[in-house]
Amino acid sequence: MFDAISRWRQRRVLKRAAIPDALWSEAIRQLPFLAIYDAADLARLREKVVLFLDAKGIVGARGHAVTPLQRVIISIQACVLVLELDLALYNGFENVIVYPGEFVPDWEWEDDAGVVHRNIGALAGEAMPGGPVVLSWPDVEASADWAASGMNLVIHEFAHKIDMQAGDANGCPPLPATMSAAAWQRALTAAYEDFCARFDEGEDTAIDPYASESPAEFFAVASEVFFAEPLLLRSEYPEAYAQFAAFYRQDPAQRARRNP
Ligand SMILES: [Zn+2]
Repeated sequence: MFDAISRWRQRRVLKRAAIPDALWSEAIRQLPFLAIYDAADLARLREKVVLFLDAKGIVGARGHAVTPLQRVIISIQACVLVLELDLALYNGFENVIVYPGEFVPDWEWEDDAGVVHRNIGALAGEAMPGGPVVLSWPDVEASADWAASGMNLVIHEFAHKIDMQAGDANGCPPLPATMSAAAWQRALTAAYEDFCARFDEGEDTAIDPYASESPAEFFAVASEVFFAEPLLLRSEYPEAYAQFAAFYRQDPAQRARRNP
């Protein structure tokens, strides 16, 4: 019964809030990593984006006015992660806040010794537990083209949000019962430790060195690579790639081979 109601509600939203074709096409054009998606993938992505936009506000702050195109560009990248998953993975927050540039967070945190810290420097994006996703628009724009930037800010922050659904961000998202938490930990820890060792040796890695920061950052950065440059993650860390494919229920490397 509940399912029937929620399906009915979804159909109503999809009808009411459709995205105009020209707007959709322009947003896709500005996200070249989607070139490997076929028409069926894109159609499902478009439905997900409509449902996402119905559930979340995307609001400008500090004088930034969010345009309809910016709204769709942000939503598409957020929805790539949950294309085959339930949007409920993004429950627990209402808004995406968009700033006109980098921002200095104004929260405080207390370390294990009881010392209170403030202001860790300017950020391009942030995902706060129980709070909004915050993005700097120029950084969203710059990282929309993976080939030029080698990173994707929106995928990164929404990967943190998914990670946080299973408690603190620690690099382990809420795994379905069909997946083994031990196998996930084994594959991801091995990949993280190998990456940190390469970073410590001064290797110029193809994957963003920020991944060496913590297991949580490794998960967020590797999620960017999984979606935007899947063949790279699969060749560098095949076991982590396999875990990601099982969790996200997608095989983007296969997609890249099919539609090179
Ligand atoms: Zn991060």
